[in-house]
Amino acid sequence: MQILSTPQELAAQCRAWRAAGESISLVPTMGYYHAGHESLMERGRALAQRMVVSLFVNPTQFGPGEDLAAYPRDLERDAAIARKHGADVLFVPEPQSMYAPDHATWVEVPELAKNLCGLSRPVHFRGVCTVVLKLFLLTGADVAVFGEKDWQQQAIIRRMVRDLNVPVRIETCPTGRETDGLALSSRNVYMTPEERAQAPEIRRGLLHARTLAEKGETSAALLREAVLGHWAEHLPLGRLDYLSVVHPESLEPLEGIAGPALMACAVRLGKARLLDNILLHP
Ligand code: AMP
Repeated sequence: MQILSTPQELAAQCRAWRAAGESISLVPTMGYYHAGHESLMERGRALAQRMVVSLFVNPTQFGPGEDLAAYPRDLERDAAIARKHGADVLFVPEPQSMYAPDHATWVEVPELAKNLCGLSRPVHFRGVCTVVLKLFLLTGADVAVFGEKDWQQQAIIRRMVRDLNVPVRIETCPTGRETDGLALSSRNVYMTPEERAQAPEIRRGLLHARTLAEKGETSAALLREAVLGHWAEHLPLGRLDYLSVVHPESLEPLEGIAGPALMACAVRLGKARLLDNILLHP
């Protein structure tokens, strides 16, 4: 596995692979790997002859006052994990090499970024789209792999790819979880033991909504109330960022769940802001 740190080196290596007729998969990450990232690498490895894993704590997707400086990092361990999963390149750029001081070009999908995480993180998806499109252009990847834990992110990237005719296929992997159901996240390390003990209730609340939906409840408002009730009882340390029922592709809020529906949430537990989501079946 090569560790490359400049966009020029990455582009040259990928150009050589494409010239040799080799297919390329891309797994974009911010590092501090857990088993969720590893499942994406496994998938990326199986989907193409060459795999690029990128590790970049992208400054433009963090707003003022967010955890850019505190974001956990461990390059040595991450490199060993990427190597173990068969990455051909681990791309670890410096921010200066990705963004010129007078960088002025942005890619946005405002229609899909206005709800859910976009409400409390107004510049987040603009930063994500811009850096992910850069990675698509540098690698010319045939396929890129994202996680369903960040549902809104993959929905926005799918839309960007479709709207801009980017010749890359988007694949998603199910959310990797701790045995108690908590969605794996690099940010889970921010929690105190007390917060960590309550964190699985996020998922249990969503599962409660799914059970009610399966029993026939179709009102998004009532399903939401049920989850908030569960959290009020079992997750007293949690502070709600949002809990919404939306269409899984358009991300438009739904009043009822006659068809495809996604319940998505962000909950703050101490310093951690934790995401989860669940598909509801009527
Ligand atoms: P991150 O490093 O957190 O920016 O995430 C990099 C990629 O891993 C994104 O596509 C995420 O959706 C995905 N990912 C993060 N957490 C999980 C998880 N628990 N299960 C599956 N994929 C995940």
